[in-house]
Amino acid sequence: MDDEADSEVRARRKALDAKYRAERDRRVRADGAAQYLRPSGAYARYLDDPYVEPGFTRAPVHDDVDAVIVGAGLGGLLAAARLRQAGVKDIRIIEKAGDVGGTWYWNRYPGCACDVESYIYMPLLEELAYTPTRKYAPAPEIAAHCKAIARHFDLYDLALFQTEVTDVTWREDTARWTIRTDRDDAFTAKYVVVVSSRLHRPQLPGAPGIETFRGRSFHTSRWDYAYTGGDHTGGLTGLTDKRVGIVGTGATAVQAVPHLGAWAKELYVFQRTPAPVDVRNDRPTDMDWARSLPSGWQKDRMANFNLVTTGQKVDADLIDDGWTDLVVNVRLAAQRRIEAGEMIDDPAAIVQLADDARMERMRERIDRVVQDRATAEALKPWYAQACKRPCFHDEYFPTFNRPNVTLVDTRGKGLQRVTETGVIAGDREYPLDCLIFATGFTYNDDYTDIIGFDITGRGGLRLSEKWKDGAATLHGLTSRGFPNCFIVSATQAGHAVNFQYTLDLSSTHIAYIVSQAEARQARTLEPTAEAEAAWVDVVVAETELRSAVLAECTPGYLNNEGKVDMRARRNSQYFKGPVAFQKVLEDWRAEGTMPGMELG
Ligand code: NDP
Repeated sequence: MDDEADSEVRARRKALDAKYRAERDRRVRADGAAQYLRPSGAYARYLDDPYVEPGFTRAPVHDDVDAVIVGAGLGGLLAAARLRQAGVKDIRIIEKAGDVGGTWYWNRYPGCACDVESYIYMPLLEELAYTPTRKYAPAPEIAAHCKAIARHFDLYDLALFQTEVTDVTWREDTARWTIRTDRDDAFTAKYVVVVSSRLHRPQLPGAPGIETFRGRSFHTSRWDYAYTGGDHTGGLTGLTDKRVGIVGTGATAVQAVPHLGAWAKELYVFQRTPAPVDVRNDRPTDMDWARSLPSGWQKDRMANFNLVTTGQKVDADLIDDGWTDLVVNVRLAAQRRIEAGEMIDDPAAIVQLADDARMERMRERIDRVVQDRATAEALKPWYAQACKRPCFHDEYFPTFNRPNVTLVDTRGKGLQRVTETGVIAGDREYPLDCLIFATGFTYNDDYTDIIGFDITGRGGLRLSEKWKDGAATLHGLTSRGFPNCFIVSATQAGHAVNFQYTLDLSSTHIAYIVSQAEARQARTLEPTAEAEAAWVDVVVAETELRSAVLAECTPGYLNNEGKVDMRARRNSQYFKGPVAFQKVLEDWRAEGTMPGMELG
């Protein structure tokens, strides 16, 4: 690269850096005011389950089971399925919702769908002989698949729904856990598997006055179809004479906004930070293709996706979508620029340049699609892609060309307040009949706060206490002092775009450990202090590069709202990714001696 071109690249990068920093600073709240409200007290009604009949009661349960699984989302179902396959008999799942499905139970908003390809996201397709109808399956189809898994593995008989765990305590004398719930259950189990995602506790914006709003208001994970009419495909006939506001522009809002725009008399989209929205390109499944797939195809396809999204070489990118493009095409674009002599020989700079190209492509798409110039400018994301979860949609931006749709860009500030009759943002009041919160879920780094109960292990040791400076686990799954207890979460477990894959890796590993413990007639199992400390070191070391990037990001749940400290690093995922995590677990099992695991 000649000097002139070199300095041009540097100048461009410097300008972009300055722009990114300015955008981030707009979003930072110097006054330290809460960014979000938790639905409790005056806001507790936002948690009510609109999908069940009110007034459910049942007799408390007092019995003993082999294993209890807390949480019946895909992770809980996979853990149960793998334990069942390992020969565990009495398996009880406990779930606060009215059925299995987890996030796919709660999220039924119009347009809700998975944006990881359904052929790799929906587990156990071959086992259940099911073919998804589309490349990106809609939410009800995934919810139905969750129920099919529960039926296939006989998980309904002992299940307790509409039930929240309040306490899990180890009893040394019987070597069993006692589990208590908000329905006065108190039963025991040899094994406890806690599988609770971070996306199950809806949050509201940190704006005063929400409780005073007199119109209809709900969170997207509790969609009020009785009010809006229609279903996940749209048809929101109840809104044709309504002024509707939606707060938030994350992955949820991006999917719901096109339907709201199509049906509301007026729609106001309150934006704090613009979303990074790329091409979706959904399509129905080619059933001839599906029939032609050989046995074992799903595992191979998942593996291909993992390889591609961790930057490894494959013969073909089988999935070929926005996620794989994040790594493949963008890297190629960077490569081309290097070949044109444009760049310095530095891997971080290559990644950065590739990222710049991708974000620029997104902004150009907005310019092409959105007619109003000011709206187009306000919709443009100015940050590195790693700062925000990518979104994929083809109707989101065109919705802003509708005459009934207004983008209210709060320029990083969020809502000022909610009034009895609407919302104040940017010192202007927007009168509304309906206010919808697409403001996401509590996603902090306090594990027991997220799951909603503490776990009391050996000698009264509380997990909240042990993990107060950050998690300590072996492979993200077991923690010393908590015998026969497994934790399945993102914490210290393999990072993956297709997170369901990590859930299955963890589930398979748990089933192996349990079957080994049973074969050896062990009463208890837990990791040694040394093995645990070594894994924590491995996890923390992998956060080095990423932490530096995240610290520069606009605040959000991916960077712990801007607080990237050692505790956050310990609570992070194992960033080497799913391929490396799988190898760690498989190598460990191959040893045959369960190294670092103490049996009692
Ligand atoms: P997010 O946390 O991603 O987004 C919340 C939105 O609310 C952000 O745009 C946020 O702005 C905004 N917000 C919060 N407070 C205020 C305020 N006071 N005023 C204005 N705006 C505010 O939640 P989502 O429900 O969109 O997504 C949660 C997660 O669910 C996703 O990250 C993804 O993992 C998952 N998901 C997956 C889908 C899939 O297809 N697989 C689809 C949908 C969701 P800001 O950006 O400034 O913080």
